[in-house]
Amino acid sequence: MISRKLLKTFASKFITMTGINNFLLHLWNEHLTILSYHALCLPDDKKFSWISPAFVTTEQFESQMKFIKTMMNPVSLSQAVCHVQEKKPFPPKSVVVTFDDGYANNFFYGEEILKNFEIPVTVFLATNYIDSNKFFHFDMHRCIIDFINSKRITDVDFINKFNNLPDYKICSVYSFSKEIQPLWEQCQAMISDDHKRLLAPISSMQIREACSLFSWGAHTSSHAILSQLSPEERIFEIDSSVKAVIRITCNDFIPFSYPNGTIKDFSEFDERVLQDCGAACSVTTIPGKNTLNSPLYRLKRIRSVSINHTQEIFEMDVSGIREIFQ
Ligand SMILES: [Zn+2]
Repeated sequence: MISRKLLKTFASKFITMTGINNFLLHLWNEHLTILSYHALCLPDDKKFSWISPAFVTTEQFESQMKFIKTMMNPVSLSQAVCHVQEKKPFPPKSVVVTFDDGYANNFFYGEEILKNFEIPVTVFLATNYIDSNKFFHFDMHRCIIDFINSKRITDVDFINKFNNLPDYKICSVYSFSKEIQPLWEQCQAMISDDHKRLLAPISSMQIREACSLFSWGAHTSSHAILSQLSPEERIFEIDSSVKAVIRITCNDFIPFSYPNGTIKDFSEFDERVLQDCGAACSVTTIPGKNTLNSPLYRLKRIRSVSINHTQEIFEMDVSGIREIFQ
């Protein structure tokens, strides 16, 4: 029987061959496309079972950057925001590259590729993690699952406690972090140099050393899904992260990205808080392209680029063809 994956690969190759992607890019010439990435790894790192699908290899990233440089017009997020504010048409086929969370690998694997193609990028930082020497709570969760699946953890009591953790996407980040922390401390001996290389958050020194193609935004302090918090906590998470990015970068154009970013994860309340604390705009994970009339605090992005996506799937996502069929 033909697998779903094979069918998808065949369909995406066929669509690319027909030139529909290029036709759609041309059709939506005046729209702004915002790409969403998270983390970069080397091609050989694909072997690690704990690598999240939100990673992209340097090989994939290079082909994707080559595609947008050749077929589109990469602009910075600040440039795109100016066009919306002034209602001045975007350069044709404008595209913005963004990274969420603030992994060090964005800098040490991404910088050379971005420099080669002269593509600007915005990295949204969960600011509590900068210089913290800590992994993101969702990476701790993923690593522990891997330790259990690979039988490196067999203690029944530990596994029961882990299985009873709440779902971090539907609870307060504070209570989840408090519960996972003691379990994580028991896993320290299992953390390898590869975990540290690929999962480490960026440091303030790397932020300062990065070339001028990098600009920086806020992504809350604790990587908090705002809709799971009280109004006071939401204000704190937004305000403190925006201030931290201003302090580290000495820049006052600070865009924001909502953690998780779906329509359920933030509200008009958060948009007002962002405006009050001087954030320039905010990106979501609501799929789609943007126009000059798009609301600045709920900009749409193309779904997160994944290590599992072929170049053809990437090109289909960028062209917007998925918006038609979904
Ligand atoms: Zn995030």
